Amino acid sequence: MFQPPRCPYRTCTNHLERRPEGFIHHGHYRPKCRPHPVPRFRCRACRHTFSRQTFRMDYRDHRPDLNARLFRSIASGLGLRQSSRNLHLSLRCTELKFRKIARHLRRLNLNLRSELPGNASFQLDEFETFEGRRNTRPLSIPMLIERTTHYIVWAESATIRPRGTMTKARRAALAEDEARFGRRRDHSRRGLRRTLARAAALVSTGQRVLFETDKKSSYVQLAKEAFGRERLVHERTSSKLPRTVANPLFPINHTEAMARDLMGRLRRESWLVSKARRYLDLGLQVFMAYRNLVRLRFNYDESSPAQMLGFAPRRFTETEVLGWRQDWGARSQHPLAA
Ligand SMILES: [Zn+2]
Repeated sequence: MFQPPRCPYRTCTNHLERRPEGFIHHGHYRPKCRPHPVPRFRCRACRHTFSRQTFRMDYRDHRPDLNARLFRSIASGLGLRQSSRNLHLSLRCTELKFRKIARHLRRLNLNLRSELPGNASFQLDEFETFEGRRNTRPLSIPMLIERTTHYIVWAESATIRPRGTMTKARRAALAEDEARFGRRRDHSRRGLRRTLARAAALVSTGQRVLFETDKKSSYVQLAKEAFGRERLVHERTSSKLPRTVANPLFPINHTEAMARDLMGRLRRESWLVSKARRYLDLGLQVFMAYRNLVRLRFNYDESSPAQMLGFAPRRFTETEVLGWRQDWGARSQHPLAA
């Protein structure tokens, strides 16, 4: 039987403290999308009423039964349109569901992590894609992982300047884009700083940090800023070495290859395109949740990357990942709570 762990209203005294006895039963309602009645409660402190659904990620959804299927579909490289055809949902519904799921997973990714046990070892690399128009709006995605478990710490897109061969048609397209949006800025350093800060937050003070990258010169200074000069060991490998299992950067290369495959919008020679950068970032959060919490590290392993780092007691199913809402930070219910 469900007992509310806290009041869902943020201004209530029963919200900040866990007080399971602070609520009285207040009947139930019968939703059209579920066979069982949903219990309602009243808070003794603020007198507001709410239901069990107020604590769930699928609160107010008309088709909560499709959430896990949509998550699986997007995390398997299908686009939004093909997913909407498969699920018999409208495209708009699918888009909105995708955004809601991805924003939830972003919070879940952040809520589940804590400081890494022992010394940290990270790998970082950047890869390129584009938003909307291939030849004029390139993006760079820094991706940072924990080296042994392949746990993805962070990835987000940043705009970069168009470069490479300039044909006449490309110059015309660039001029057209510049008239519409202004000069395209290079924000890749900002993206790198934000990504490195996510990693630095996982390292406890005094722990040594092994940081591995390719030989791009800007990484040296940025890494020192993020982790501190004293505890940082920065190993650099030439990106010209063959990308095999023997390459020291195999873990990050492998994760990137997986991201390209499992996010249809990053695949080469694909019809799928990110129209706007912010939805690509949401897609990256879906991939991160899938990679860190649901998928095994390697096919022969028995645990997920998050499990290996002690962030989760076991592997999550697609349904468990989309359970309790996570927008109350540390006060959110653990996804595996009964
Ligand atoms: Zn209350």
